[in-house]
Amino acid sequence: MRVHYDAVVVGSGFGGAVAACRLVQAGMRVCILERGRWWSPQEFPLHNDDPRAWLWTGWSTGLYQYHYFEDMDVVVASGVGGGSLVYANVLIVPPADVFATGWPAAITLSVLAPYYQRVREMLHPMPYPRAWSRTKTRVMYQAAELTGRRENFKLPDLGVYWGQPGVPHPDPYGFGTSQTGCADLAECVTGCPIRAKNSLDLNYIALALRNGAECRPLHEVVTIAREGNEFTVYYLDRSRPVPEEGKVCASRVVLAAGTLGSTEILLKAVYKYRTLGPVSPALGRGFSGNGDIQATLIGIAPEVSFTTGPTITASINYPEEHFLIEDGGLPPVVTLKLNGWLPSFNALPLLMMGRDAADGLLRLTGRRQKLTLEWSYTNSLPLFKAMERCVQELAAALGGQAVFMPAWSLARKLITVHPLGGCRMADSPQYGVVDDGGAVYGQPGLYVADGSIVPTSLGVNPALTIAALAERVAERIIREG
Ligand SMILES: Cc1cc2nc3c(=O)[nH]c(=O)nc-3n(C[C@H](O)[C@H](O)[C@H](O)COP(=O)(O)OP(=O)(O)OC[C@H]3O[C@@H](n4cnc5c(N)ncnc54)[C@H](O)[C@@H]3O)c2cc1C
Repeated sequence: MRVHYDAVVVGSGFGGAVAACRLVQAGMRVCILERGRWWSPQEFPLHNDDPRAWLWTGWSTGLYQYHYFEDMDVVVASGVGGGSLVYANVLIVPPADVFATGWPAAITLSVLAPYYQRVREMLHPMPYPRAWSRTKTRVMYQAAELTGRRENFKLPDLGVYWGQPGVPHPDPYGFGTSQTGCADLAECVTGCPIRAKNSLDLNYIALALRNGAECRPLHEVVTIAREGNEFTVYYLDRSRPVPEEGKVCASRVVLAAGTLGSTEILLKAVYKYRTLGPVSPALGRGFSGNGDIQATLIGIAPEVSFTTGPTITASINYPEEHFLIEDGGLPPVVTLKLNGWLPSFNALPLLMMGRDAADGLLRLTGRRQKLTLEWSYTNSLPLFKAMERCVQELAAALGGQAVFMPAWSLARKLITVHPLGGCRMADSPQYGVVDDGGAVYGQPGLYVADGSIVPTSLGVNPALTIAALAERVAERIIREG
């Protein structure tokens, strides 16, 4: 197997898939190292008898990784396609004022506009065409109307193939991958078993492979080392019965292992293995959970079903308070299992996200140098209070009650699926790890292109912005040759 490449890309989610695809299209020999597996539709955990298909722990190579931290838990995905395998398909451009503070001067919404457009041309986002046939969408609209927010109700763009429901198409978008029209299975967040979602393995990665990229699944990067102008990337090959160490070399490395993954690789390369020289003292700073908080509306009228249709179908925007409320959903089989030991009731899960203070810290602690997150809700409390108030208003308007996660209500602990920051972009190495083009300060040839470079919370679902930034990082690498 080849050892030397023009570029090594670590991770294959919204940052890595985009970067790898564009670099290989520009003629580079690219190797993608991804710790997770290739997931065929039948292998997703709901359709797999092997319980190890659920969790990625290092010993098992399942679909999700659950990071348990003291103040906030973080859920991410593992597999070729990264978070796109389990995301709820929502692709939203944040409002222009998000970029006004905390971002490098070169990044504005109008600067990013062409990159957003490139991603949209690959992921084909469109609102759910059958939205009005779903009770939960109608209830969201009703709630918006009753609380005086009809203007702020929206059917968000979803990256889903809306062909004939349940009917396969050999190649709907010209990437050489077959997909099937969304059949309303509500399995978006457990892995679509019919390939209706436009996950990255079916577009950016398919195109990258077609152009000659090499993708090595089950290859977990341990550290990177610099020797002159060349990097060596050390990995553990978990496709073997006994994991084997290995390495690849390149003059350019793009870290795209996600907010936690890339920050951890850099922290360990600098402070644990000492294979890389110094980087910015801002490494690990600026962690944000993107203001994620979840609630459930119970006892509302009319009756709603959240087990049919895509996971998210609608949003209500609160622009003056910088947050968004979306409906949630779960596959019927999960709720059947839950109802085995929970009373069944009429309920609507709600997912909120907003502009939190982005003031968490990721660092290595203890003898084993484990990744830990320090985060406090204090500076973000006004946001969460406003969210609580507005969710209570929605519940009251629908004649029900809002129930927040007990961890939040009792212990002020949150769960996020939208981790951001840690290697944030800034105009100077004093404040950020990378510049506005994703280049790591002080480490020529090393780039970061994933959620970790986003320097503030976005207050909307972040995947489209991460992919747009990765398009820009890739363009810069290609320009520099
Ligand atoms: C259940 C759920 C629903 C979501 N819904 C939405 C949504 O609707 N809209 C939205 O915008 N966002 C959504 N998100 C968030 C979205 O998935 C993430 O923001 C996005 O995937 C982050 O992109 P990324 O490139 O930073 O990282 P990822 O997409 O997480 O990709 C990182 C990749 O790197 C790999 N990796 C990690 N460490 C290593 C290593 N050491 N070596 C090799 N590979 C490694 C991982 O396995 C992974 O494949 C959702 C997330 C979850 C969990």
